[in-house]
Amino acid sequence: MLISLTFDDGFKQHYEIALKLYRMDIPATFFIITGLKKYNGKHLLINEPKLLKEIHNLNHEIASHTHTHRDLTKIDRAEIMYECQYSKSILENIINDEVKGFAYPYSTINDDVVKTVKKFYRYARCMGKINRWNNNLHPYKVGSIGIRHLPKLFLKAITLRKPKLVVITFHKEPISIVTSIAKLLKELSFELKTLYEALTKLNILNPYEETYN
Ligand SMILES: [Zn+2]
Repeated sequence: MLISLTFDDGFKQHYEIALKLYRMDIPATFFIITGLKKYNGKHLLINEPKLLKEIHNLNHEIASHTHTHRDLTKIDRAEIMYECQYSKSILENIINDEVKGFAYPYSTINDDVVKTVKKFYRYARCMGKINRWNNNLHPYKVGSIGIRHLPKLFLKAITLRKPKLVVITFHKEPISIVTSIAKLLKELSFELKTLYEALTKLNILNPYEETYN
């Protein structure tokens, strides 16, 4: 069972978390909003590109969470394109590397959204009810759980139908909670990887050639 820790919105405190996880040898994925100063009243990392670059250099994955965090099912295709393309190019300029992953804001999707996201990213992560335990591994419907579902993870891990991939999504949880969970998972010998690495290992990513067309 592979586990991936993912962090949404790119809050400034995620930088501290990235450092702590690095020291614990746990690579994680950070989904960054690229076009806002603050989100939910908290400062965003995008306004300090040096810190973002540093997170990337610590072997974590920098991925996109759109430019302005709009509900993609409520805007037209040109606007979805803009949200995907612009945030990708901003992040790639900062980290000087390919940005492969994407997380849908509010986890709202439809066929049109998925089709557009597919043009720019190799995978996309949801949360909530969509494919929560990744029973069907799908590169554009990668499911994830919030920490309140963690007890179920331990139950699932000992059953015969244990999931191949469990993705945990964090938002504004305190650093101490995140590090305790990470420590526990590590001590229990779960295999912790960035989401891109986990999906590569499971061999479900879209091939590169199909990504940009
Ligand atoms: Zn978000």
